[in-house]
Amino acid sequence: MARISPLEVYKLLPGINCKKCGADTCMAFASQLIERKKKVEDCTVLFEEDKYKEKREKLIELLTPPIKEVVIGDGLKVGGEEVLYRHELTFFNPTALFIDISDDMSDEEIEERVRRINKFKIERVGQELKLDGIAIRCKTNDEVRFGEVVLKVVENSKMPIALCSFNPEIIEVGLGIAINRRPLIYAATRNNWKKFAELAKNYNCPLVVYEEDIEKMSDLVQDIEEYGVSDIILDFGTYPQGEPLARAIENMISARRAAIEDGFKPLGKPILGNATVAWLVESDPIKASHLESSLAASLMLNYADIIFMHTLETWAILPLLTLRQNIYTDPRVPIQVEPGLYAIGKPNESSPVLVTTNFALTYYTVASDVEAGKVDAYILVLDTEGLAVEPALAGAKFTASLVKEHLEKFKVDEKVNHKTIIIPGMAARLSGEIEDITGWRVLVGPIDSSRIPKFIEEKWKKNGKA
Ligand code: SF4
Repeated sequence: MARISPLEVYKLLPGINCKKCGADTCMAFASQLIERKKKVEDCTVLFEEDKYKEKREKLIELLTPPIKEVVIGDGLKVGGEEVLYRHELTFFNPTALFIDISDDMSDEEIEERVRRINKFKIERVGQELKLDGIAIRCKTNDEVRFGEVVLKVVENSKMPIALCSFNPEIIEVGLGIAINRRPLIYAATRNNWKKFAELAKNYNCPLVVYEEDIEKMSDLVQDIEEYGVSDIILDFGTYPQGEPLARAIENMISARRAAIEDGFKPLGKPILGNATVAWLVESDPIKASHLESSLAASLMLNYADIIFMHTLETWAILPLLTLRQNIYTDPRVPIQVEPGLYAIGKPNESSPVLVTTNFALTYYTVASDVEAGKVDAYILVLDTEGLAVEPALAGAKFTASLVKEHLEKFKVDEKVNHKTIIIPGMAARLSGEIEDITGWRVLVGPIDSSRIPKFIEEKWKKNGKA
């Protein structure tokens, strides 16, 4: 399906430019709707007057993403995507990572896992990367034990949860305990779907449908939707390796294509992948965690909107969080930090002043290298509109006059008793011009910021201070 244009949306708006929605014109509001910066309801005129009923309904239909957005718990959104490729627009809802807990684990083990899942947090490029939920699996087929474990998790974590069993009676016990948490129910199959559909309707919960054949999946989803369930997630079955894994991934891609390119609604749902299957073929925890991490990465790259995992090893989860951050960063908006003069450690008036750009990855890399080297320094961050050093130089966003402007704006001369700055090695060609127009002496630093501490040790301490 072609992407919606602002003109298509505009034609369904009142066109009176009344500004009640906060936009200056209906056309501006149309663009904001497409960007999901506004909701249809923000145009109150559309809802106040009956004459707009038909336009309103058409507009809501037009703006509904081809992949339905499903909410788990009190606000975790999955799906809601509009494009196959990130660069065509952006992806909106990052893949949710749920860590499993089984009811055959001891109470101590469960408490420890819940504590670690709750606490898991990594900071990267100024953002906190976290896990998203807990998948509670019934392995004992014992309602009482499953109920105890659901209660333990609910009491010890506020994270969204999934209740996992193919037995609807077991799931109903969990739902009775977690009734206020709107858990994800896993999973309906062609054999049990009516009972699961009944539960999903009665408890108003999203439902996973498990079916390995894509055509049968489509039929099953239509039956369940006709039964009255609207929040559905697809699971084509994940295998740890070989042809069955290839088939599952092919189904995921085909489903996403059918929904986005052909507008085929039964498959326009979020997709679930289950990376815990790695533990079926690897008993060694290191090998299993490694396989699980690779498997989860493959699922994430092939449209999985939610992934169940077992490992809690930081080294296995970190690559996934990093991959997810890269895939789900809006390509239209570079991640930036505020321009300014930043203190790293405890700099004083004789400390070095390093210059860099406000592309977040550049800044945080330089800052963490300086910090790791135990160097007390100032970093002058230039407003290069979110570009890294090399593209900023190529696009004339990192210039000598910009350095002058920032030295003055952030009053660097009031912080230090010298007039020397260190510029990135890649910006060496600007050194003469910067000296000419600023009156500051320029040292050309290393190209690789990991060498800054050594550079400071060797060059600054000998030559930096006047
Ligand atoms: S509230 Fe509706 S009619 Fe008024 S400017 Fe916004 S989009 Fe146009």
